[in-house]
Amino acid sequence: MSLIQKIHNQLVGKEITCTALVQEKLNLLRENKYNSVNVVLDELALEAAAKVDAKINNGEEIGLLEGIPFGIKDVYMVQGTYTSASSDLLKNYKSAYTATAIQKLLDAGAIPMVKENCDSFGHGSSSENTVFGSVKNAINTSLVAGGSSGGSAVNVAAEYTVFSIGGDTGGSIRQPAGYNKIYGLKPTYGRVSRFGLMAYASSTDTVGPLAKSIEDIAIVMNVISGKDSKDQTSIASEKIETSVLTSKPNGVRVGYFKNFIENDAIDPVIKTQFLATLEKIKEAGYSVEALDFFDADTLVSTYYTLAMAETASNLSRLDGTNYGERVEGKNLKETYMVTRSENFTEETQRRIVGGNQVLSQGFSDAIYLKGQQLRKEIEAAFESDFDKVDIVLSPVTPSSVPKIGEVLNNPHAMYLSDAYTVGFSLGQLPTLTCPFGTETGIQVTGAKNKEQKILQFANFLNQVQ
Ligand code: GLN
Repeated sequence: MSLIQKIHNQLVGKEITCTALVQEKLNLLRENKYNSVNVVLDELALEAAAKVDAKINNGEEIGLLEGIPFGIKDVYMVQGTYTSASSDLLKNYKSAYTATAIQKLLDAGAIPMVKENCDSFGHGSSSENTVFGSVKNAINTSLVAGGSSGGSAVNVAAEYTVFSIGGDTGGSIRQPAGYNKIYGLKPTYGRVSRFGLMAYASSTDTVGPLAKSIEDIAIVMNVISGKDSKDQTSIASEKIETSVLTSKPNGVRVGYFKNFIENDAIDPVIKTQFLATLEKIKEAGYSVEALDFFDADTLVSTYYTLAMAETASNLSRLDGTNYGERVEGKNLKETYMVTRSENFTEETQRRIVGGNQVLSQGFSDAIYLKGQQLRKEIEAAFESDFDKVDIVLSPVTPSSVPKIGEVLNNPHAMYLSDAYTVGFSLGQLPTLTCPFGTETGIQVTGAKNKEQKILQFANFLNQVQ
């Protein structure tokens, strides 16, 4: 059942006012039980809510998203609000303009409630790499929220927001969605404009929704998608027909990657749960094919090689001159050095150093270009797989949700938790986390631009659970 539709009906039927709804959620956000909040957008939210109430009282029609409270990962520009990327460097930075995806939601009348805590600059898999303190899991507060869009997932799971806009470079929407048992879609690369999103790794950065139902994911996608002259990598796409999503998908060929499941790194519980899900699909009459694919170690090292190179390059603009905090040194060079080493977190510094190493003269052929070559091979493998099957299923993570503090000081373990998400990012494919199938969820992936097919199949999967 769509939560957006339900609230829309309540607003139109005058069972609740938008102001009362927004006020209730603002109170919850201010309480901030999970540390999921960087800034509450009280003024903006109440002002927008009053407009919606006035329209309803005048007997005017309102759109489906009008009056619906939503959250924003703190890496999106919203003019006049703080956009910190959960970093010291930008903690006092105010956005000069608004990101395209957010502007489209504002134009549709959705209510911006909160800038959400996340891993700094998207660097992480647990939402502990943040200067605002670790985000707590919405289901069990001793566990991590997942990352990097942890605050966004928690706010949706706790119903502090009806949906949130996260960002996914290598799993940052899908993994926290799985850890907090909600849906999260990483769209096809380019389907949603990246304009106004702080860049992490530009070639895999995507903008997408987290929500409690498949229909809500579709409703939000239809508003935020589209070609944008401000992002030359953005593409036009077809509308997702929500009426189709509830019908049983016909003749879908399902595949899974054999070596994701048949290896020692996967938790036996997750493996058993995943295989049981495959059985249910077979029982429902679908074919399930085991596919050969790159091993997780190759995917993780290719992704981190390229992501670190791209983030080192993207973050080079943050030196205290044009943006953010500045610490004066004896000369300009020292000013850059002190500013960057005092204001980036340890994990972000690790990636900048790693990325510059990968790109440096004498190393770039052996490391960066090798990474690019592997990426091409990974993309080619996806193409041939999607000739054989329509949907690829995989667990979201190889292991269960870590406790707070468990992975923060073990970067290698943290990188390995991305084993099943990063490959699809390198392939720029659309992929959805569903909150069932294994204890950290299941990923439903399709070929480029097959979002509708993915959501339709996910809806069927939900019904056979
Ligand atoms: N955990 C991955 C990383 O740290 C993915 C993060 C993301 O998608 N922003 O790179």
